[in-house]
Amino acid sequence: MARRCISASCPTRNSFYSRMSDNLSPEDRRKTMRAVKGKGTRLEKRLWAMLAGMGLKGWKKNAGTITGKPDVVFTSQRVAVFIDGCFWHGCPHCQRKLPITNREYWERKIKRNVELAQMHNEQLLQDGWTVVRIWEHEMADTAIIRARIRHALEGKE
Ligand SMILES: [Zn+2]
Repeated sequence: MARRCISASCPTRNSFYSRMSDNLSPEDRRKTMRAVKGKGTRLEKRLWAMLAGMGLKGWKKNAGTITGKPDVVFTSQRVAVFIDGCFWHGCPHCQRKLPITNREYWERKIKRNVELAQMHNEQLLQDGWTVVRIWEHEMADTAIIRARIRHALEGKE
């Protein structure tokens, strides 16, 4: 893994992800490229690239038929993974500022996203899924995220 600065003010910190695949073998790099292709937000692509780098099998992107359309599902272990943008989901840690114009619109929209996510979590849990929700800002330490995903998968095997 590339060296990285954990200081929030460090200008190189945000470019960390562009170097994420530095240590990949050619085979892993191919997998990563395959995973990253296709439609998806930048955040989703980062998640997919990370999973591809982990060498895990049996995951699917953008599972449209599953409650809440998880960004990734591991179907056989019934593990659903979401990556939530800190702005769009009103992250309490980041407290992103809302645009000044149309403030009410943004507040409503974000509140709705939070409510929907909560509803989806509950439904998924009822249906026997394990839900892993990742905040955008948590991708700053993928080691923790990778451990959480492995833990969720191991719990289901
Ligand atoms: Zn955040």
